[in-house]
Amino acid sequence: MLGSTGSIGTQTLDVIARRPGEYDVEALGAHSNIELLAAQAEAVRPRVVGLVDDRRAAELKERLPVGVELEAGPDALAALSTHADVVVNGVVGFAGLGVTLAALAAGKRLALANKESLIAAGPVVAPLRDTPGAELIPVDSEHCAVHQCLRAGTRRGLSSIVLTASGGPFRGRSADELELVTVEDALAHPTWTMGPKITIDSSTLMNKGLEVIEAHELFGITYDRIGVTVHPQSVVHSMATFTDGATIAQLSEPDMRLPIGYALAYPERLDVAFGALDFASTFSLDFSPPDLEAFPCLGLAYDAGRAGGTAPAWLSAANEVSVEAFLAGRIRWSDIAANNARALDRWDGSAAESVAAVLAADGAARAVAAQIIDEVNP
Ligand code: NDP
Ligand code: MG
Repeated sequence: MLGSTGSIGTQTLDVIARRPGEYDVEALGAHSNIELLAAQAEAVRPRVVGLVDDRRAAELKERLPVGVELEAGPDALAALSTHADVVVNGVVGFAGLGVTLAALAAGKRLALANKESLIAAGPVVAPLRDTPGAELIPVDSEHCAVHQCLRAGTRRGLSSIVLTASGGPFRGRSADELELVTVEDALAHPTWTMGPKITIDSSTLMNKGLEVIEAHELFGITYDRIGVTVHPQSVVHSMATFTDGATIAQLSEPDMRLPIGYALAYPERLDVAFGALDFASTFSLDFSPPDLEAFPCLGLAYDAGRAGGTAPAWLSAANEVSVEAFLAGRIRWSDIAANNARALDRWDGSAAESVAAVLAADGAARAVAAQIIDEVNP
């Protein structure tokens, strides 16, 4: 469980705790939260713990239970991704790339929450999925839903997929009304409790845009056959429509432990229910098209996806910089989309032919995005 101290990480450990004896935790890993890592190690007794920020390694070593090894440094989490049968990647952002690549290259099942690695490096990740034993099961709830829906038909019979979006805290507001929203407003997600980066991405619909690219990479489906619908209840997690007109959907209350459990138990089903619906109660489900004018990030992601090459890596990296600047109070919410658009305009057109090319695009995009922020907000 890499990224064990985050929202996905702690929920994964919760799923595992409810199935005593079923899963052994081989490794835990995080960036710098040694307090929580030590507490988790005490509770689940992994073989080894990974820490990216090695300045705190000695301190963590002292706190770990006797016999639990420590691996520290920038490559620690990737190094731990080759041991277990299932590698859950719950790292946030592009920093999750090493785990994705290492787990697939080692022929492991990758339970992937870290969408950014697939979005940025799709063409590099794709051939690694052919490694004997390697298997990619999406944990992102929409893609996990699509994965489940696709089991109802064949590839040839698939017509399109539709990703659902809650619409975030600003659903229904116009671009004008969004000029003055605060960090606090943007962090108040109506249906999901998640880490700060993805919560801001949900407020701009960049999260949905990134998920469109993620769906393209995961399922090999063209952009014109990936739709988005705004569904405020977050009960239908996504859908697949087949050539005979049938749409198959996966429904449950919003609870990430369901997709996490799905990725752990696949092809079986976990025998603990998370988010099961109560059809004895009255409820209704609404769907409407997204407002691309108020939420331009969604359109930007389609543009970057269709452009191909390192454009998705470029947009995703620029967005990480914009979101950090917004969270730090340096730019306004509406600047996130504006900065991302300007950064994408300056994409260098490079191909995503190697890890080095993706890393270079990521670095260049971050520099461009930082420069744009300095220009707008010196
Ligand atoms: P959090 O911010 O809650 O947790 C992030 C985790 O990644 C922490 O364990 C953190 O360690 C670790 N981390 C941070 N920086 C680095 C780094 N440079 N190198 C290695 N590890 C690092 O994020 P979430 O759990 O919300 O999200 C994780 C991923 O899952 C994201 O890609 C997100 O898009 C995706 N996702 C999340 C969902 C959710 O419900 N939360 C839903 C769908 C997808 P530390 O605590 O030490 O900083
Ligand atoms: Mg999602």
